[in-house]
Amino acid sequence: MHILSFDIEDWFHTFNRKYYNNPGLWKSLPSTVEKNTGIILDFLKKHNIKATFFCLGWITETHQSIIKKISRQGHHIAAHSYLHNKREDLSKKSFYSDTERNIKTLEDITGEKVNTFRAPGFSLNHNAKNTIETLYKLGIRYDSSLKSGFYLNDKKIPDNPFLIKTNNISIKEFPIHTFSFLNKKIIYSGSGYFRVLPYNFIKNKIMAKEYEMLYFHPRDFDNSVHKYINNPLLKLKYRFRTSSTLNKLKFFSKDFNFLSIEEADKSINWEKAEKIVL
Ligand SMILES: [Zn+2]
Repeated sequence: MHILSFDIEDWFHTFNRKYYNNPGLWKSLPSTVEKNTGIILDFLKKHNIKATFFCLGWITETHQSIIKKISRQGHHIAAHSYLHNKREDLSKKSFYSDTERNIKTLEDITGEKVNTFRAPGFSLNHNAKNTIETLYKLGIRYDSSLKSGFYLNDKKIPDNPFLIKTNNISIKEFPIHTFSFLNKKIIYSGSGYFRVLPYNFIKNKIMAKEYEMLYFHPRDFDNSVHKYINNPLLKLKYRFRTSSTLNKLKFFSKDFNFLSIEEADKSINWEKAEKIVL
């Protein structure tokens, strides 16, 4: 089972201190999200693939036409917060209001119920019990914000989709895989390292597992986004092998059948899935 997902945000929605937590600046910056999301949508249409799109609330509001286009093409629409704050940088109250605003904006624009979430920076494991309860209260039943090999409280995050339970509620979790390299746990199935690592290396990693979650941003497909970045290291990071992303995805689409979370859910036997009880 190979799930394809995209986090719909602009090139400045990274954790670069200059822009993070400074939404007052965002409207004055050149935007590339529509152009690059267009590249993604054309690719998916051509290859008849449905994916899950985690959409930032701020983008949903400021670029309504691209979100409507994603929805019209029948993709699975999901939430990725309103202002792209990591969970640990928000109080319980502001996490609730930010997520609520994200979901409402998306539902108003697409007319679809939103039941799936991804936290910015895969940061769900902060204050996990309260976070899960908040998400459930807001109608979220599926999540993809955790990295395998890390811990949720003191419980090791499994490799395959699993259930997070607390009190009488449960959320279905679709983790992203990591591998260890120089004492660091690295995500190979998306964004920066996907661009850098050779195709066969990633393919072998993916083939070794029954389940895989791939994830990208529109900026991963952009050969020119580095023009807007001054910091030389960040410039290199955002330029490096962006032209390889689409080609690799083309190869993968021949080797694997990609699904959205919505489609994958139907083929999982949740009775047999692992559980983490908080
Ligand atoms: Zn993000």
